[in-house]
Amino acid sequence: MRSNSNDFIRQIKQSLEIEKSFGVAELPALPALPGTQYLIGKLSTVSPDNLARLEEEFKACAMCALSQTRTQVVFGSGNPAAELLFVGEAPGFDEDRQGKPFVGAAGQLLTKIIEAMKLRREDVYIANCLKCRPPNNRSPLPSEIVTCKPILTRQIEIIRPKIICALGKFAAQTLLETQEPISRLRGRFFDWNGIKLMPTFHPAYLLRNPGDKRLVWEDMKLIMKELCLST
Ligand code: URA
Repeated sequence: MRSNSNDFIRQIKQSLEIEKSFGVAELPALPALPGTQYLIGKLSTVSPDNLARLEEEFKACAMCALSQTRTQVVFGSGNPAAELLFVGEAPGFDEDRQGKPFVGAAGQLLTKIIEAMKLRREDVYIANCLKCRPPNNRSPLPSEIVTCKPILTRQIEIIRPKIICALGKFAAQTLLETQEPISRLRGRFFDWNGIKLMPTFHPAYLLRNPGDKRLVWEDMKLIMKELCLST
């Protein structure tokens, strides 16, 4: 427990350094919300052994400043025994309102991709690196990613999918702990604690760059092969 707390403090220090180098001079102060201390203490020992209990534990999470601007925590949705897990970046406007991941325009494209793989959304599980919407859909801050990552890690450990598909730069870089650009990461499998991980472009990127849908389909075909789905 002590070394977990020390790891957590070290990670926070590291991410604050990174943010400083990004030009972030100050972070919004969190009011002393009831329960905050409790949650911070819990962070490195995220332990529930099923998704429902994990979701319950974090539904009032106040570990970062996003808790002050979100409507609700968007934990994730789908089949808790899914063979395929998609991980995106963070909830946007629609997700924050509805409490479900990928329900806006990018989500509609993700649904099309899933259905083209001969699966339904209910067959897979969909989660995000951040569980709360960043204001104005800005990119996640390194400290937010570090703070939220133990929840995602525990989700993956509980689901234990055969394949993780990391959608976009933030998911791929967070899970693979690398700064490599997504254009260099996509198209091949990596190992995430014994689970095959395929990075690919984010559906929101595809909405802006439809020409790259072809590359994502190549990546999905590799996943389908691993899952013994006919292409
Ligand atoms: N983009 C994401 O990365 N996640 C969502 O849930 C919605 C859009």
